[in-house]
Amino acid sequence: HAKRSGRNCIYTFDPSIQQALVQKLELEKDLRHALNEAQFELYLQPQVNSGGCLIGAEALIRWNHPQKGMISPADFIPLAEKSGLIVGIGDWVQEEACRLLAGWKTHPTLAKATLSINVSEQQLRHRDFVAKTLNSLNVCGIEPAQLKLEITESAVMLNLDECADKLCQLKQHGLEFSMDDFGTGYSSLSNIRALPLDQLKIDQSFVRNLLEDKSNQTLTQTIITMSEALGLEIIAEGVETEDQKLALEEMGCHLFQGYYFGKPLAYTDFMAYVETAGACFKNS
Ligand code: C2E
Ligand code: MG
Ligand code: MG
Ligand code: MG
Repeated sequence: HAKRSGRNCIYTFDPSIQQALVQKLELEKDLRHALNEAQFELYLQPQVNSGGCLIGAEALIRWNHPQKGMISPADFIPLAEKSGLIVGIGDWVQEEACRLLAGWKTHPTLAKATLSINVSEQQLRHRDFVAKTLNSLNVCGIEPAQLKLEITESAVMLNLDECADKLCQLKQHGLEFSMDDFGTGYSSLSNIRALPLDQLKIDQSFVRNLLEDKSNQTLTQTIITMSEALGLEIIAEGVETEDQKLALEEMGCHLFQGYYFGKPLAYTDFMAYVETAGACFKNS
């Protein structure tokens, strides 16, 4: 009887769900080899100030799948998180980011630029996170303040004390931290204050409807005013139009990232962009 009902279960399986599951498992299997086969690449998206000068970049991972082509992080980071593969991938991102920074040491415009990387919850929770981060910096001999770690509210809130402790240790070595996607999570102000943050990043969902949606304007203004009060730098992400940039400036935000200024670019394209873009660091 048990056998028969088991079979019945299989027959009632929705084939499209099963197909999606198989695809997911295949992707996860491929993901296991992606690191060893050097299939990851960091794209760089410019970050600029009000004058349009480059101040740094955010590193965004891409997976160059041998059959499926370029896969966006939205499609594999959640899988990497669930399978634990994110720890190894995150280590690679950190090491690669440090190598890039090291390569810019004598560059006329990038020598003082910051590079932001995204740190996931599992990575942050790993007991060697602090040691591994410091080691990546030491190996490349770069200025710790040039590597900015982007964390999200959801990544820190479950283990606030432990995360705060780790970030404080890194802070003592000069690293800086940005709260990514700010305003979309559930953290309270006191939680935010427990962390040694340097920057808040206004989530692109606020920027997207900034001009049309009055309540978005109010929220965005509140976030900017609050960041000022807390002495935090503020940057807006997902800025796609000049009008959005002007509205944000009006509200007191003077750092930007978004398609209006530049899309995430492969390394060589980014370096070409740097050659033509206005540079803040040339005379400093
Ligand atoms: P995020 O850190 O919030 O990154 C911003 C995302 O918005 C990027 O998507 C970027 O390409 C996109 N974006 C930038 N400007 C604009 C714009 O003007 N308009 C629109 N519509 N989109 C814009 P991407 O590269 O697909 O990355 C998605 C997310 O994947 C990231 O969100 C981040 O949470 C995660 N991610 C990316 N790289 C890494 C990584 O190395 N490690 C980890 N753990 N997560 C990563
Ligand atoms: Mg980010
Ligand atoms: Mg973000
Ligand atoms: Mg986001």
